[in-house]
Amino acid sequence: MYRARLFVIRRARTFEWIYKRVEQAIVALDPIFAKIGYDRVERPIALVEKGVKTLLFDCKMCGQCVLSSTGMSCPMNCPKQLRNGPCGGVRQSGYCEVKPEMKCVWTLGWEGASHMKDGAAKIREVLPPVDRSLQGSSSWLRVSREIAALNREKRDAARTTLAEAFPGARLQEPSTAPLADEPPKATTTRRGA
Ligand code: SF4
Repeated sequence: MYRARLFVIRRARTFEWIYKRVEQAIVALDPIFAKIGYDRVERPIALVEKGVKTLLFDCKMCGQCVLSSTGMSCPMNCPKQLRNGPCGGVRQSGYCEVKPEMKCVWTLGWEGASHMKDGAAKIREVLPPVDRSLQGSSSWLRVSREIAALNREKRDAARTTLAEAFPGARLQEPSTAPLADEPPKATTTRRGA
């Protein structure tokens, strides 16, 4: 799988694009997942996620995927599992001090980020420590569920604003203003009827 990881890093921009599309597709499926029940879809989705991501990224199913912030290089492959940059032991050649046959995930991450659209900015963001209680769960589902909930909140807030603005608008309405003329076709039809 190490070779696949190197392949992904070289094409990090393409994978960034694919990743965003997958996220959009899963967010769009939120009403269906909500109907079936998120608990029931968790297992099959996690299995698919594990299969795809193990093949491409050597994913360890940490449950809080940060690939888009780490140049598409999974930080859980670092023997020290560092999520915010390399330790001080990276060899001059860019290889890991613990596994000398493997390039440091952060050397790869930096390379991947340089190919990505948002990579250079995102790799500088400080990531929170990994939450071990999410180990094995689907990151796709969790993130998509959060985005879908946020979108719902925004829609509800917009509706509330409109509903609240409506009575005010009615007060301002010139209730005695003459009605506009009916379109000629409508008046003809009514007379003829
Ligand atoms: S960051 Fe976590 S979910 Fe993402 S590829 Fe690595 S182990 Fe898998």
